[in-house]
Amino acid sequence: MRVAVYHPPSEIRVEDLPIPKIGDGEILLKVRACGVCGTDVLKVSRALPKKPVVLGHELVGDVVEIGRGVQKFKVGERLVVAHHVPCGTCHFCRHGNHSMCRHFKETNLDPGGFAEYLRIPAEHAGQTAFLVPADLSDDEGLFTEPLSCCVRNVRRANLLPGDFAVVVGMGSIGLMMVQLLKLIPTQVLALDLFDERLSLAKQLGADYTLRGDSPDIAEFVSAKTEGRRADIVVFTAGGGKVFQNAFSWVRDGGALNLFASLSDKPVEVSLDALYHHEITVFSSYSPSPEDLVESHRLLCEKKVKVAPLVTHHVGLEKLRESIDWILAQKAMKVIVNP
Ligand SMILES: [Zn+2]
Ligand SMILES: [Zn+2]
Repeated sequence: MRVAVYHPPSEIRVEDLPIPKIGDGEILLKVRACGVCGTDVLKVSRALPKKPVVLGHELVGDVVEIGRGVQKFKVGERLVVAHHVPCGTCHFCRHGNHSMCRHFKETNLDPGGFAEYLRIPAEHAGQTAFLVPADLSDDEGLFTEPLSCCVRNVRRANLLPGDFAVVVGMGSIGLMMVQLLKLIPTQVLALDLFDERLSLAKQLGADYTLRGDSPDIAEFVSAKTEGRRADIVVFTAGGGKVFQNAFSWVRDGGALNLFASLSDKPVEVSLDALYHHEITVFSSYSPSPEDLVESHRLLCEKKVKVAPLVTHHVGLEKLRESIDWILAQKAMKVIVNP
């Protein structure tokens, strides 16, 4: 089968590898579509993996073979499956830090989504695989994993109806975040540097939009909240400078929420401001199994629109190039069809 293998530091080669063999409780999937995640882009652009690896974890495929004992799914069905499974019982899991669970980090699909075929291990088949209903496209179905990460983030934010949220970055994650915040519903100010992304944010429910480098953001937020300022600033993009600016956008007792790696360099912040204004900084990364269930439900019930976020479809051989498009912000969500 054809597989796109990432060779650090920067090459991705399409190679021929044997189709994985499945065991009891396992499933062989023929991959139809796999989304390029921001973390795939980060791994390649910062050369994070130290040895060759197959990336891709937002995927939909057809069941072509099932192992002994698989009850939940049948050959011919279309599934979406997420790549990590928490143990559910360790110290991290009991505290709700499922994505920090050691078992979560060790589990994975074989070899990864940027391949023609993929083996779903038994515990994934049981906990992170879902049927894609006929009225959802492959593209829509594969958003189950990335949307679930956003679901967890918004859940952890503990916002109230009527709150005011600022979302920095209107890439695919920012645009999902806007829609989830509107389900609470909060008021949402969307920030980006590109007009077309801001108008898409508006179409998908953002109340207000401004350019991310506008000097008027603090004043605007203040005017919309009776001088109180925003309850939360969600960073899906931006750099250290934007993070520093956000101290003038967030209210006393509010939160700065990291949903992206804004910088690999240290950023200077005022600990005094954090302390005196009771500002919380929190981050959120991968989902728990419950967030996957919730995300799948939201997609099936068409509560979140994801099709408009897809800008490109490519074959395996264009994966490396498409990562450059994303880095240059010429593409938003790229889907690889192996
Ligand atoms: Zn992802
Ligand atoms: Zn655990």
